[in-house]
Amino acid sequence: MSDLNTNAFWMPFTPNRTFKSSPRLVERAEGIYLYEKSGRQIIDATAGLWCSNAGHCRSEIAEAIHQQAKTLDYSSIFNFGHELGFEYAERLVQYTPEGLNHVFFGNSGSEAVESALKIALQYQRARGKGTRTMFIGREKGYHGVNFGGISVGGIAPNYQSFGQPVKANHLRHTLDIERNAFSKGLPEFGVELAEDLERLVAFHGADQIAAVIVEPFSGAGGVILPPKGYLKRLREICDQHDLLLIFDEVISGWGRMGSPFASEEFGVTPDMITSAKGITNATVPLGAVFVHDKIYNAVMDAAPDGMVEFFHGYTYSAHPVACAAGMATLDIYEREGLLTRASGDIGKYWEESLHSLADLEQVIDIRNYGLVGAIELRAPDSLKGKFGGKASALAWDAGVMARGIGDALCMSPPLIIETHEIDRLMETLREVISGL
Ligand code: PMP
Repeated sequence: MSDLNTNAFWMPFTPNRTFKSSPRLVERAEGIYLYEKSGRQIIDATAGLWCSNAGHCRSEIAEAIHQQAKTLDYSSIFNFGHELGFEYAERLVQYTPEGLNHVFFGNSGSEAVESALKIALQYQRARGKGTRTMFIGREKGYHGVNFGGISVGGIAPNYQSFGQPVKANHLRHTLDIERNAFSKGLPEFGVELAEDLERLVAFHGADQIAAVIVEPFSGAGGVILPPKGYLKRLREICDQHDLLLIFDEVISGWGRMGSPFASEEFGVTPDMITSAKGITNATVPLGAVFVHDKIYNAVMDAAPDGMVEFFHGYTYSAHPVACAAGMATLDIYEREGLLTRASGDIGKYWEESLHSLADLEQVIDIRNYGLVGAIELRAPDSLKGKFGGKASALAWDAGVMARGIGDALCMSPPLIIETHEIDRLMETLREVISGL
């Protein structure tokens, strides 16, 4: 490792110079575990970056990728097609809420978000409401790193160096530890924060707003769960003012919350859903936007016959290898019941196990739903806002990958995790947190 040259690779979202002084490298992965070259085993309590939902290195997916790469590795997708893309799209929309029957493919969550924002703008124009060009996001929201995504997102460092080129304003975030500390499942308090949308509509005018985009729960913002009734109220306000509602389900989709999508889990149907990550079990990059009939039909109907209806697309939209990986991923999800597993006994076990750490004096909040969780730590003044990073580094040394966000340790283990593995994870975390 010492002779590895780390200069050429400019690492994303990483303090490169610090990393280079002590690189953390994994060599292989299997199930819920990562392995260093030395053979040291690390529990991947974050499923990579909230994405390896069925666990690592699933041979069925590897095999499907291999076969597809040998059969049709690529073909142009503009004005041409391959059956697999259509079959996969047809299969995917079986999982989406009613009405979201169309899929636009990209390569990542960020591209799914950009595509959704552009679809929203085009929809508004198609129905003669072209003044609606602004978006409402939410503080602490994360919607990827492209220019639209950083504009609608609400994590300051993501746009501070680049500006906010797409017109956007933000709802207040809903993390209220004081009122909701140690709540299990969705927080009781905070539904009134949805009224913030009324305030922004009154301020800007509904005729200026194209869509509202939120994550059903904020992941990268620090596992912020929606207060009970919050998303339903956002939907009502959107309906009242004829605004589109986009759920960014890049993390919350594919079983994380106990249903195929959080929309279904929380009983709220958006007009579009963005997806990526778990869609291929993170094996091959793929992003998707699921689009409601009303949007698709309006865009199709507005374009003259024979014309391109939506001037947007990627060289790798519906890449055959990604589609094959996605199909094999769905096979596993179905066969192993993974898309609803988090709502069953394992989700309960996860909840109880996480909350068993509540007695530690360093812990000021624990929040969870499905198979996500966050442990909010009491940070010393000198490390406020950065304490999660310190805890995460110590957890890594102790054999656990957990994500530090602000002062929280955030987790989203692979959906295949078993009770004894949760036990081992919590034992390790207890030691790490006690020693902070
Ligand atoms: N949206 C959400 C909700 C995400 O969590 C992420 C990634 N963490 C993205 C979009 C961006 O996805 P990607 O990194 O694949 O571009």
